[in-house]
Amino acid sequence: MKYVPIALVGLSLIARCTIGFEPAPDKHYNLSISVGFSPAQADMIIDAAIEWQNATGGYITFDGAGQPGGAETIEFMTEKERQPDPGLYGETWNEGVPSVIVVYTSLDDKLFRQSTLHELGHALGLQHAGAGTIMCHGAGCASQHVTCKDVEQLCSVWGCDASKMPVCAAK
Ligand SMILES: [Zn+2]
Repeated sequence: MKYVPIALVGLSLIARCTIGFEPAPDKHYNLSISVGFSPAQADMIIDAAIEWQNATGGYITFDGAGQPGGAETIEFMTEKERQPDPGLYGETWNEGVPSVIVVYTSLDDKLFRQSTLHELGHALGLQHAGAGTIMCHGAGCASQHVTCKDVEQLCSVWGCDASKMPVCAAK
């Protein structure tokens, strides 16, 4: 398997991600994206990381400096590299850090985006939640974006104040 830094598969994630934010060392993750994903899919993974970052106002931040298996790395692999359970769109192992996330490359863009946001939530320690959240267990009940309820769950795990997060303040 070969991996490339995110900076090489799209605009520099570091430039896109950390503008306006001061990354906190214990809440900062490095992404590693397999070259098995198309450039468009790699961009969707980057966008998903940016969405979590923006939803939390930079409480959690990402860059593209991940090394497979490295500390603080969230590693995205394709289903060809690691087989998820059948019937799932994606799967996260070792919830927390370091994590491996598999997303099926055959998904259409809408499902791919939704699955990537959902699996990133698992990697951040979130469990399944109710309908209308990105952490709902199925594509039919899950939202298309990170919601305030998702950030409230994140803050219940991480001990932050969800009411101060942009996605909740915008309600
Ligand atoms: Zn799930």
